[in-house]
Amino acid sequence: MSTHANGTPGPRTDLLSPDPTDRTRANPIFEGDMDTGKTVVVCGAGGFIGGHLVADLLRQDYDQVRAVDIKPPSQWFQKFGAADNRSLDLREKDNCYRALESADHVYNLAADMGGMGFIENNKALCMLSVRINTHLLMAARDMDVGRYFYSSSACVYNQELQSTSDVEPLSEEDAYPALAEDGYGWEKLFSERMCRHFREDFGVTTRVARFHNVYGPFGTYDGGREKAPAALTRKAIEAKLTGDDSIVIWGDGTQTRSFMYIDDCVKGIQKIMHSDITEPINLGSDELVTINGLVDVIEKAVEVNLGREYDRTKPQGVDGRNSDNTKILNELGWEPPTALRDGMEVTAEWIEEQIRRHAEQETTSRFAVAH
Ligand code: NAD
Repeated sequence: MSTHANGTPGPRTDLLSPDPTDRTRANPIFEGDMDTGKTVVVCGAGGFIGGHLVADLLRQDYDQVRAVDIKPPSQWFQKFGAADNRSLDLREKDNCYRALESADHVYNLAADMGGMGFIENNKALCMLSVRINTHLLMAARDMDVGRYFYSSSACVYNQELQSTSDVEPLSEEDAYPALAEDGYGWEKLFSERMCRHFREDFGVTTRVARFHNVYGPFGTYDGGREKAPAALTRKAIEAKLTGDDSIVIWGDGTQTRSFMYIDDCVKGIQKIMHSDITEPINLGSDELVTINGLVDVIEKAVEVNLGREYDRTKPQGVDGRNSDNTKILNELGWEPPTALRDGMEVTAEWIEEQIRRHAEQETTSRFAVAH
């Protein structure tokens, strides 16, 4: 574990063992709920954030952790034998009722999503995730679920407030008047609104967090759905391994963002779930960095120096986006503490290990075919 200049602990490396059982034996990230007799359901458990959340719930010794995803468990980023792993398409209403049987707490992290390249080119697919949250909320209402968490996004914010790189951090009221990211952002805004009305009209206890870019190990780093930190890290590692000395950056590199390390996200989700915060709240880092600055951090983590090429034909999203953490600090006395350079160091190490392992497997299988 590293320590920030300000004394805040950096990422825990004991949560990164290649053996999933080891990962569930570590001390939990969140230690707030004393009633571990509950049945907790994580939807989207085969994905990046869902997999980390399941691990942390198992660390807390919940009796029943149900992990649900549309993908077969063999394709999940993290899979734990101690969870009740189910493959269900949560767009279908009947499956949502099956998934939430005797559930006390439900975390909805299921969505058809990806980085800028994916959400720009798949707006209809992103909007169809509305079926997941709608049917899960109906099931939560009809089956008396105790608490329901919805993962919204900073993409709900009015785009006109994000048109310069030295952007004012976005506070919760900046979602209205609404001009969300087309497709993905509108679906998130609608779905968080639906959580509000299920709470007000039907008494479902809903909690909503607006995540700002999340990164870390056990996530997507190739294939087209990856986000900037993982995509740029993969490119830097590939350049290092092949001896190429350049990296292609989407846009002009001056666009600004903040990035939250996964453990902070997992802690924040659970803090918000157990809180009395009924309105959507930011969950993000407020360490603003340009994409060029992110590449500087990645170069250090990967130990490589690269020439930069800018592809301005590729989607680069809004010019600037940062999280205003006033509300979360007031409500919880906490905000995501991990410094970008600390989180990226661990993330780069994990991605490099995966790339090297895949390269080895490919060589072995080619050798096996040749003989
Ligand atoms: P992810 O793509 O890794 O995980 C989402 C999971 O949902 C995937 O495993 C996918 O198979 C599953 N899923 C999709 N459709 C489904 C269906 N019909 N039924 C069941 N499962 C289905 O994404 P993530 O990064 O873990 O994001 C989790 C949540 O957080 C999403 O709602 C996402 O929109 C939100 N979010 C993420 C970020 C980020 O930076 N990662 C930022 C803002 C918001």
